[in-house]
Amino acid sequence: MTVASLLTPDKQWNHALIQSLFPSDISQAITAIPLHPISTHDTYFWSLTPHGSYTVNSGYHLAHTKLHQNEPSSSDSKSSNDWWKKLWALPLPPKLKHFLWRVCYDILPTSRNLFNRKTLHSPHCSRCHYHDETLEHALFRCPASQKLWNCRNSWIHEGISPSPDQVLRDTSTYMEQYTTCNKKSPSFSPASNDHRQHNNNCPSSSTFHHRLLVDAAQDL
Ligand SMILES: [Zn+2]
Repeated sequence: MTVASLLTPDKQWNHALIQSLFPSDISQAITAIPLHPISTHDTYFWSLTPHGSYTVNSGYHLAHTKLHQNEPSSSDSKSSNDWWKKLWALPLPPKLKHFLWRVCYDILPTSRNLFNRKTLHSPHCSRCHYHDETLEHALFRCPASQKLWNCRNSWIHEGISPSPDQVLRDTSTYMEQYTTCNKKSPSFSPASNDHRQHNNNCPSSSTFHHRLLVDAAQDL
């Protein structure tokens, strides 16, 4: 259901329809919202940021607030310490908890962070080449990351998972593209600002071997 479906043809709230669909308190809350005179399409809007787009930082603060909303007021440092204690007590592999800790403090070695520390010449993402590799881009917005999320969603919601053979074929295709690009790139200068260049000092394709690493997690 969209907001537009709750409007009359002359762009006013359809009170009768709203009251038939929602409890009275929610109906009153909906119809109390002033309508904009200009008709626009419905869009998703994250209310916790001024620009309406989700950020990891705002999501973390929302989760933190929800976690402690029923607790008696305390100093920020105490509630923060309690939050970390709960995180460290979770039955998760240490490397995963350490990863979450680095995510919360935005200290993963993303291109943006390495660029800020003057370790890289460019903050661009080395996978898609179109955006700065911020924490949010690396985990959620990069097409390569979204492919992983799609695989995860297919497995969770549809029971579909790529077979090891499929993973091997995809990896082989990727490796062939990588080596082809390296052959086309005659040289690589560390001082270059062109992030799209690849290191020509990598081993030749004949020395590559496939090594399929498998990791797994389980909800407890
Ligand atoms: Zn990317």
